[in-house]
Amino acid sequence: LNYRAARFLISAPTLATCPEDSGAEVAFAGRSNAGKSSAINTLTGQKALARTSKTPGRTQLINFFALDDERRLVDLPGYGFAKVPESVKLEWQRHLADYLQHRQALKGVVLLMDVRHPLTEFDQMMLGWAEQAGLPLHLLLTKADKLKRGAATNALRQVERALAGRTEQVEVQLFSSLARQGLDTLEARLNGWLRG
Ligand code: GDP
Repeated sequence: LNYRAARFLISAPTLATCPEDSGAEVAFAGRSNAGKSSAINTLTGQKALARTSKTPGRTQLINFFALDDERRLVDLPGYGFAKVPESVKLEWQRHLADYLQHRQALKGVVLLMDVRHPLTEFDQMMLGWAEQAGLPLHLLLTKADKLKRGAATNALRQVERALAGRTEQVEVQLFSSLARQGLDTLEARLNGWLRG
């Protein structure tokens, strides 16, 4: 699949306003600042397809990017800034859970976490929802360039151990947008989901 062909399709605040639920899509999720926008931009070879450094508290939308007529990448809202009121967080949670649980086209979830701060409360929540919905997961430990090779490998092993015993559909890898590390592995997993 040609990820460079990705084009912005639509922003939707709720499941009801998402594009028609047909074909296949893969969703990207991550706490704010996990490196999600950078990863989407790296994957698609486009500097500003997904916007980086979002304003905290801004209305969060589900952003759809079309690869072709049948396949899409989906940028899910992330949060984590203390500034966001609890009521807003709960509202986002509701839309996220709704999308993950009811979207037929959704084939898998890429969950991004900073390699230095993996498995936050947000990540655990996403893992739980994906598991409940029977969705396969691909975990990207981002900004791997920030750690020495040995430390990055240790972080990878720790996350793998923490996930042992969960669904066997979870895979974990190191990733760096800056160093363009791990792109082939990511594309291979996405291809598997989207080609179905
Ligand atoms: P988002 O909030 O998850 O979309 O995160 P962004 O993609 O906006 O990235 C958050 C911050 O991390 C920005 O300052 C990025 O420049 C930085 N960042 C993202 N990916 C990498 C990476 O692979 N390596 C390094 N060193 N920094 C990164």
